[in-house]
Amino acid sequence: MHNQWNPEDAARFPGDLGQCVYASRLLGADPDLVLHGGGNTSVKIARSTIFGEPEALLYVKGSGSDLATVEAKDFAPVRLDHLRRLTTLETLSDSQWLNELRGSVADASAPPVSVEAMLHALLPAKYVFHTHSDAVLAMTNTPSGAERIRAIYGESVVIVPYVRPGFPVAKRCAAIFQAELSERTTGVVLLRHGLFSFGETAQAAYDQMISLVNQAEAYLASYPVPNAPVDEPDPQRALRQELADLRQAISTAAGAPMILSSHEDAQSLRFAQRPDLAVISQQGPATPDHVIRTKRVPMLGRDVAAFRAEYEAYFQEHQARASFALTMLDPAPRVILDPALGMVAVGRSAQEARISSDIYRHTMAIIEQATALESYQSESTAEVFDFEYWELEQAKLARLGRPPVFTGEIGLVTGAASGIGKACVESLLARGAAVVGLDINPAIEQLFNRPDFLGVRCDVTSEEQLIAALERTARAFGGLDMLILNAGIFPPSRRIENMPTAEWRRTMTINLDANLILMREAHVLLKRAPRGGRIAIIGSKNVPAPGPGAGAYSASKAALNQLARVVALEWGQDRIRVNSLHPNAVFDTGLWTEEVLQARAKNYGLTVEQYKTNNVLRVEVTSRDVAELAAEMCGPLFAKTTASQVPVDGGNERVI
Ligand code: ZN
Repeated sequence: MHNQWNPEDAARFPGDLGQCVYASRLLGADPDLVLHGGGNTSVKIARSTIFGEPEALLYVKGSGSDLATVEAKDFAPVRLDHLRRLTTLETLSDSQWLNELRGSVADASAPPVSVEAMLHALLPAKYVFHTHSDAVLAMTNTPSGAERIRAIYGESVVIVPYVRPGFPVAKRCAAIFQAELSERTTGVVLLRHGLFSFGETAQAAYDQMISLVNQAEAYLASYPVPNAPVDEPDPQRALRQELADLRQAISTAAGAPMILSSHEDAQSLRFAQRPDLAVISQQGPATPDHVIRTKRVPMLGRDVAAFRAEYEAYFQEHQARASFALTMLDPAPRVILDPALGMVAVGRSAQEARISSDIYRHTMAIIEQATALESYQSESTAEVFDFEYWELEQAKLARLGRPPVFTGEIGLVTGAASGIGKACVESLLARGAAVVGLDINPAIEQLFNRPDFLGVRCDVTSEEQLIAALERTARAFGGLDMLILNAGIFPPSRRIENMPTAEWRRTMTINLDANLILMREAHVLLKRAPRGGRIAIIGSKNVPAPGPGAGAYSASKAALNQLARVVALEWGQDRIRVNSLHPNAVFDTGLWTEEVLQARAKNYGLTVEQYKTNNVLRVEVTSRDVAELAAEMCGPLFAKTTASQVPVDGGNERVI
């Protein structure tokens, strides 16, 4: 691990807190030290109270921010003396402890204080940094972890045995620090948790952290993880139905739709194929911050009933044990290991699933390293539950409030790179869904850079590519809940006596056939949508009111409309509903340049403004208007509606 301290960069962060921010970002940038909001840092600063009396404040990184991107405002100033004095109390309940922590913050707008603030308060140095270093975790999650730490660091570190986070650990640490901290102490190791470094300058504390971790890594270098051969599954095999089954079972257990992402990389497969998997994966998370359960499942076959029965038994067992807890923490596993699937990460959103997979990737490395060293040993499952349903964690979740309506659900939009399709992607994302966007334009792959979006380049005239896109959807997010059929073409205006057969066929292929194929292939996924599948079809005003010169377009959209009505009849029993919307004159799409608009307006003797609002309500209809209606048609408002056709055209006299 390299020391990344750069004096020039550091100089750009003025003041004691600024130096702490700089060091925090360096620590946060290394995933082998901290992951996704893990770890914390602090600096002690003297100031005067409003009464002009001297006071010591502990600026400690609050909950809800990431060290890698932390800013000064993310630190909470805690009254140091008050915090330290708490450890002189005999006992404090979790809720009293939380109240005292929050009540000792000197700034009402500060973020909530991390439960680890107390350890920062108890260490006397000005700067205190805490990480969950993979190397230290690998070492301390073994039966003889304490002896190994002694062997590496001698008497220069203070060792704290594993204690449940909160007041008990604070109390224990206060006693240990008082007895053992000395001039020679360079760090504190919390067994099965992580380590603390400290110093009078931010650089000294940072240097100390890197040096401690480097010593641990050097020790581990003599115990390499054996590189066992991996049984590579056929990458071409179709997993979408199995994944959708798994997602359905997990969502049922969780009581809400969940996102699943599957990982078939060499590390995940090697780990999931270990003969000792059942033993090593059920030992609890590598640190209490990584709350993950693992479940080994047999090779997924076609026997869906047996597969689901096994899951249901598993969930019931866990649900029974967790029945005392509030329902906010669902009983679903966060990671599933399978020799054929590798790792499947689970979350209530794509972001959560990504966090699960990132954390478990490090957990796998820690477990393998600990096993190479000796054997992996973490806290018992009972303690994990204790932590999971601990009231501080509950409080953290309570702050999240009510999730958006499509949280945990997955939508797929065709023709998604621009215009109405892109707006549909945005409307679904805004409602909390994970979204797959299909488009023939390669720009789709970079349309949004966020964990809940997957852009897939796809020619909808290719059956193979459509099927591959659904397969990618299931592997990325676990299944499909909502399908928005938007891709279509509008060929040049042409009377029927002049229509080339090729143009007619091409229009039908894109506007009709592709949608038949996509719906047919998506059926197995939509059928397994936890809340029932939804299809929204972007139709056209031309369905109820065709226009001269648009024969192929009007016929294709009318046929699609009729197909949707049959879908509604056939798939209602599968809890799949389909609704159509008929937009007209949506001009904010790529097709309508300012020049084209002007030419068309002139054609009718209108200004551009008059032309755009040439409808009963005299309003302009935008892509966003259409997208919002499509999204609502997938939402609870239309829960009991199928086969509807709703215009979104500002009112058209020919339709009315
Ligand atoms: Zn920690």
